[in-house]
Amino acid sequence: MGLFDKKYCDVCGNKIGLLGNHKLANGNLCKDCNAQLSPWLTGRKQMTVQDIIAHLNYRAENARVLEMFQETRVVGTNMQVHIDDVHGWLFFTRSTDWRKANPDVLRFDQITGADYQIHEYEHQTAVEVENVAPPPAEPPVPPAPAADAFGRPLDEYGRPLDEYGRPLDEYGRPLDEYGRPVPPPPGPAGRPTPPPPPPR
Ligand SMILES: [Zn+2]
Repeated sequence: MGLFDKKYCDVCGNKIGLLGNHKLANGNLCKDCNAQLSPWLTGRKQMTVQDIIAHLNYRAENARVLEMFQETRVVGTNMQVHIDDVHGWLFFTRSTDWRKANPDVLRFDQITGADYQIHEYEHQTAVEVENVAPPPAEPPVPPAPAADAFGRPLDEYGRPLDEYGRPLDEYGRPLDEYGRPVPPPPGPAGRPTPPPPPPR
């Protein structure tokens, strides 16, 4: 028995490469057979060749069960729980190609307990103001109102405007913001026009 003696898998009979051996209690297992073991299997080195053959038969049956799996719900993001409410089955996997990964299918009644963890995430987006695109251009200014027969511009109600921008009524009197005629302007220097002197 030299260090580099060729080893053969005691399950499938294939030659085992230099670094491909997985020891069993009473034999050797190749890496291809080892890859078919359940990821939940522990204590492989203490298992016999017969234990492994029985386990691989279970794994082949599990693959047949997966072909009947009718996925109705998926929970989780990385490690996902895939649920078949029709059959009452579920399995856990990180693989997106779960038919190839052959995850162990459990019946609902095999679940005896669960721990819950709630993860919350917040996401904020910071925007650099300097890099924000300029706002869209102002809408075009509507054309100036048309003028009346005297060349005076008209306001939005079609009333002519005087030189101070005040609308005028139909008698040519300027109107205040309430639409009332503005009193005539005071006399020179801002003083009220004095009443005419009483007759003698
Ligand atoms: Zn093998």
